[in-house]
Amino acid sequence: MQISMRYFLGLGSNLGNKKKNLKRALYLLKKRGVKILRASSLYRTQPVHFFDQPWFFNQAVAIETSCTPYALLNLIKQIEREMKRECLIQNGPRTIDIDILLAEQTVIQTKKLTVPHPRMEKRNFVLVPLKEIAADAVHPLLKKKIKELWKNSQDCSIVKKLRKEGRKEKK
Ligand code: AMP
Repeated sequence: MQISMRYFLGLGSNLGNKKKNLKRALYLLKKRGVKILRASSLYRTQPVHFFDQPWFFNQAVAIETSCTPYALLNLIKQIEREMKRECLIQNGPRTIDIDILLAEQTVIQTKKLTVPHPRMEKRNFVLVPLKEIAADAVHPLLKKKIKELWKNSQDCSIVKKLRKEGRKEKK
């Protein structure tokens, strides 16, 4: 019997057609057998750390898969490669970035993989989309709900919900 696991992923893009990039990343996840349980709205977010780059579009999704966390990381890396992710500068522009934010209550702290994602509680571009779909999910190390982490966030960077499909939106 295959045991499946639930994860929350954070996706971001700030190169090319950002909306299309996020859509394609979800399509490629589904194509590899990952079930998308919930997807947040898209958010326009101000870059943090490296400011001289285009704003990002960010999204959070809840997924179910039989992949272990390491297998999921490999799958994510494949998708990033397939989408020809360019990332020359750390925290710089990229066609797609996919992070494993939470893996139920699992904690992993290795060189290759850290779950919950490090510093997620300090980033509005992660917390705001995640709160939309998982306000009551609990961070297994901080023992706090996502909505509480958001309330305590010291991050001042701007996160704006994108208007619904069909209306014109800045790329
Ligand atoms: P980034 O450039 O931010 O996408 O970082 C990519 C690297 O971070 C990958 O090589 C992963 O091995 C590592 N990494 C560590 N923890 C995570 C995580 N929770 N989700 C995704 N990548 C991770």
